Amino acid sequence: MTAYLFGPVAPPALPVVGETGLYPVRRIFCVGRNYAAHAREMGGDPVIEPPFYFTKCATDLVPEGGAIAYPPATANFHHEVELVVALAAPLFQSDPGQAAKAVFGQAVGIDFTRRDLQTIAKKAGRPWDLGKSFDGAAPVSALRRCTAPATRGAIRLAVNGETRQQGEIADMIWPVAELLAHLSQYHRLDVGDLIFTGTPDGVGPVVIGDRIDAEIDTIGHLSVMVTTPR
Ligand code: MN
Repeated sequence: MTAYLFGPVAPPALPVVGETGLYPVRRIFCVGRNYAAHAREMGGDPVIEPPFYFTKCATDLVPEGGAIAYPPATANFHHEVELVVALAAPLFQSDPGQAAKAVFGQAVGIDFTRRDLQTIAKKAGRPWDLGKSFDGAAPVSALRRCTAPATRGAIRLAVNGETRQQGEIADMIWPVAELLAHLSQYHRLDVGDLIFTGTPDGVGPVVIGDRIDAEIDTIGHLSVMVTTPR
């Protein structure tokens, strides 16, 4: 039997509302633009075109938020509140009906972004990884089980008590089931995969000392404090 050279670590995991077992996280997929108003504020044209994706590392996950250190190499650290869905079953080249049945639960998450690094990457035609994936980049609330993904509900984010983002799940360009079906054309999705489904408009910077509250009606709430770099 082959041994690991270094001890394998337990996977990042999310609590589940009302349960003791944890949901182990394997991969984090994110949708680029899924609300027309946010596509416009980022300089895009929200005409219907296929969704596009980027990824974060599972180790970027911060279960239930809390203190998150201001990340290095940025002076423009942005919040993006998003509905996050977790899968309970394999999904490959599926249709939206199959995709809806594969959803385990939902949560509220923040797709934290080093906007300055993302902007440089966009202009240079480079990958977004440095802008989107780093320690603390993916705080997510506890998962709430569901029988089907949400198609409506208010989604909002406040900084120090002041509302910055206020959107509606029903305004997604691509509903969750259609997103999952589309993504499953490219990947064998499975248990452990989280999908951040895009942010409404109102994204903006946060600084050290800020308190961020994010919530989606009937799904969850998440609080984050931005702290000094470690
Ligand atoms: Mn996002």
